[in-house]
Order: sequence, then structure tokens, then C-alpha cells
Amino acid sequence: IKALNIFCIDTLTLFTHKLALEHKPLNLGQGFPDFPPPDYITEALKTVCTSDNVLLHQYTRGFGHPRLVTALAQIYSQLIGRKIDPQTEMLVTAGAYGALYSSILGHIDEGDEAIIIEPYFDCYEPMVRTAGECYAGVEFELKMVVTTAEKVFSVEHYFRSYGNGRNDGPSLQQVVVRYQQQFNKAAPSKSVILAVVKKFRRTGSVLCQRKGSSGSRQTVCTNENTGHVFDEVVQSPQRGLKKSSGPISSGDWVLDPTELQNSFNAKTKLIILNTPNNPLGKVFTRQELEMIANLCKKWNVLCISDEVYEWIVYKPYEHIRIGTDFSFKISIHTSLKDCVFVATLPGMWERTITIGSAGKTFSVTGWKTGWAYGPANLIRNLQVVHQNSVYTCTTPIQEAIALGFEKEFPRLGQNDCYFVSLPKELEPKRKYMADFLREVGMNPTVPEGGYFMVADWTPLASKVDLNSEKDQYKDYRFTKWMTKNVGLQGIPVSAFYSDAHKHIAEDFVRYCFIKKDENLKKACNILTKWK
Ligand code: PMP
Ligand code: GLN
Repeated sequence: IKALNIFCIDTLTLFTHKLALEHKPLNLGQGFPDFPPPDYITEALKTVCTSDNVLLHQYTRGFGHPRLVTALAQIYSQLIGRKIDPQTEMLVTAGAYGALYSSILGHIDEGDEAIIIEPYFDCYEPMVRTAGECYAGVEFELKMVVTTAEKVFSVEHYFRSYGNGRNDGPSLQQVVVRYQQQFNKAAPSKSVILAVVKKFRRTGSVLCQRKGSSGSRQTVCTNENTGHVFDEVVQSPQRGLKKSSGPISSGDWVLDPTELQNSFNAKTKLIILNTPNNPLGKVFTRQELEMIANLCKKWNVLCISDEVYEWIVYKPYEHIRIGTDFSFKISIHTSLKDCVFVATLPGMWERTITIGSAGKTFSVTGWKTGWAYGPANLIRNLQVVHQNSVYTCTTPIQEAIALGFEKEFPRLGQNDCYFVSLPKELEPKRKYMADFLREVGMNPTVPEGGYFMVADWTPLASKVDLNSEKDQYKDYRFTKWMTKNVGLQGIPVSAFYSDAHKHIAEDFVRYCFIKKDENLKKACNILTKWK
């Protein structure tokens, strides 16, 4: 099997580790809090670690520790107005990364197209490429070796697609029937049936088509074997990644409905939605979600909804979960007084996989635990990938997260709930950063959610020696130069675009504001002094 050569070390790794270690800047690059998580969650882990239940240090159920899947199912059942089965409709993964990986690998197959909305969390594209390149299908030749018989029965090209839940070849039962018919013999016992991997089928590389030139845009990945080429989309009149002198909110970054519609076709397998979005902080509106939902239904497309920042949304914006079952919602909504966030996107439950992260939910990014929920037939496909790549996630961490959810569940939506207090705590930090960025002349996009802020740095371009760095894109050169010479680290926003579109984002840098006030103040001082 050829090595995967389509990836290089990603931008976040380069900036957050290599450059940060070398130059020790004030790090507003990678997204993580530099203040402690809530006491009860670290206490929970302490309790778990000192518990008499020694089994909490051993492997737990592969698809999710029972106590955690139960807690997750309880909370999300309420939030989406539908009873989630913790056994079949929930999977615990190695971070939200794991959930994305299993969802994408579990569904993308040869010839499929995935729609990714730019700017996007950087791993979506390589994951889609990986699925298209290497794992889309495994061809088996099934040999039934019958010890007593002289013949070896071989079913030509017994095809089972790995991980995507489809089985395009004959079932084992059908093979057995064929054997019986051919040899007029009783079926051999399973123990003498041998399945061998005949060859790995590669699907050719996945191309990212460049589409249009508006701010929020789609990258359409398609298999180069299909030769499918998209029409260039007419320039969008929408406000997007365009320079503006006035204040910009992440809500000013909008989807072009025509561009979105034109991205769907009969080959589209899935769309990846990220709300609130990283890096913009855009919280998709109900109308936008309805538009996406209608297209998904029209084209029979799966929606992978990355909602890791679901709790970090600033008033008056509201996080809406696209994977909601409408009919169920009504009855539950009226009977639950605490039902705080309920969305109405009929028909989406059965085609949505929703992804969450304990790292974001409890401010413990290092715990690296995530999950996916959705209908059992879809989650099954994730389970296959998960089982064969991770198998099971850490037990004590899962138990502690379960304890955390058990504490939050009864106070969901109330002021003492961490999911309510965290965005409140972050709001002044968001304002502080937006103010000081404006003050120094950068034009920030004020996020409606999440903890990143994208800003146009080009008004300060004359103060930067862009030629001292060799990178192709100006934002890379800017951020590197800033790290080395000014001591402040951000992330170049073109990292969140496909190769074809990176130039659109060259004027932008992303800063993280889930930091102690004293560090935000330091950032402000660094920039003010430099300017
Ligand atoms: N999705 C988005 C949008 C993210 O920003 C991140 C960053 N952590 C992830 C997924 C991955 O989350 P985790 O750390 O739980 O793997
Ligand atoms: N989600 C975080 C960010 O965007 C961390 C991602 C990562 O480390 N790859 O900064």
C-alpha cells in the first residue's frame, strides 16, 4: 500500500508547536483556554481516579462508556426533542476529530462528492481526500475452502465496501447458496470459510474545484476519475471576505444561495456544516439551515454537523441544531419546561450526524473526547471505522465527563449552568479583543459564537517586512513575522481555505480570545507598542 503523500504538516501544528516553541510568543494561535476548567469537572476526574472501582482504569465499551453515552443521550434527547438511544445512536470518539474522521471515512466512497463550506476547520478537506484516496473500498476475494472437498470455491470479486456501510457484493448467505447450487452439497460450516483481502482499490485523488469568489463559499470535492467539472459560478453580490471599513460581524459572511444550490448534484454524498464556525464564529441562521436542509432532502444528502462550539454562542444569537426530528419535537417540547433550544428542521434527523466535543463543552481540550449522534443506520458506519482505528476511548475521562453532564443536566439553561456562564464570561473578552484590534487599525470580524476572531491585518502592512519570509501567502508571512519579531502569535486564515482559494484570505489573521484577561491585556500592549 502506497504511503499517503497528500498531506503536509498542518498549519495549526506548525504555528502552535514549532514556531511557538522556538520563539515563545504570546500564543493566541491554537484554540484552548489558558485558565482552569470548572472545578467540578477536575474534581470528577479526581473522584474517578481514587474510586474503589478499579475497572474504571480498564477498557470500557468500545462505542462509548455506558455512563457517558447515557448522559449524552439524556441531554441531547432534550435538546433536539427526540429520544436518542444511547446504544445505537451515539458514539464516543477520540475528540471531535475522531467523530469527523469516522463520519467521513464511514460514508465517502468512490465517485462521491462532499460539499465543504469555506472557510472550514482545516481537517475536513484532508479527511475527505483520505476517504476518496485510500479507504473508499476494499475488494475481497472470498474463498471458501472446504477441507473435505477437493475443490476451492472462489467467488470472483466479492466486494464489500469498507466502513461505508454498503455492501455491493453478494452476502455470505448468497455465496453459500451459490456454493450449494454449484456443487450440490450441504453448506460448509463458517469455520472453513476464509475471506482474504484480494486487493485494495484506490479511487484516484479527490479534486477540489474552485467555485466563484464570494466570501462564504463551497469547495466541491470530486473524484478526478469522473472528470466532473463544475460551472464557474458568477461572482456573488453578497458581503463576504471582502474588506470593509466599518465593523463586521460574522453574520455578514453569508452563503450565496445560488452557489450552494449549484454545488449539489446526484453525486453529492454529504455536506459538512460547522456552526458556530471555526474560524469565523458565524452562527448559521435558521433560514440558512433551512436552505441547507432543503437541499439535503432534495438531493438525498447526508449532513455532518460539527457543533463543537454549540455552547459558546453570544446573545442574541442562538445555536440551532440541524439534526432535529420535527414530529417528535412538538410532543416533547410541550411536556418539558426546561427545553431551551429546540429547532424545527423536519426530516433532518434521519440524514444528520451531529458532532460535539468535551474539550469545548467543559474547557478541557486536552481530554480529547468527542462524540457523534444520529440515526442508528448512519452511526453504524462510524462504529465500523471507530472500532477498527481506535476501538475504545479512555475510561476515566469518559466517566468524569459523564459526571459533568449529570451535574449540568438538571440546571440546563439556568444561570449557574456552565454552558450558560461560559459564553457570558467570554463576552467581555470578545469585546476587549475587538476594541484593541480596531484601535491598532486591524478590522475585526466580531464573532457570534466560538472563541476566535478574524481580523484584517493589511492596514498595518507597511510595518511588516513580508519579504523576510518565503511563504506563498501573505497571511503566513505576516503571522510568522509577527511571531518572530513582535511576539504575538495568530493563525493565518488562508489555512482554512482550499488551495485554490487561499488567496482570498491572505489579508486575515485569526486570534483566540479564550485567554486570561492579563494575557489579552498583554496582547493589547504588544500590538499598541509595536504600532
Ligand atoms: N471541529 C472544530 C470546528 C474545531 O474547532 C475543533 C478544534 N478542536 C475540532 C472539531 C476538534 O475538536 P477535538 O479537540 O474535540 O478533537
Ligand atoms: N480547534 C483548535 C483550533 O482551531 C485546535 C485545532 C488543532 O489543534 N488542530 O485552534
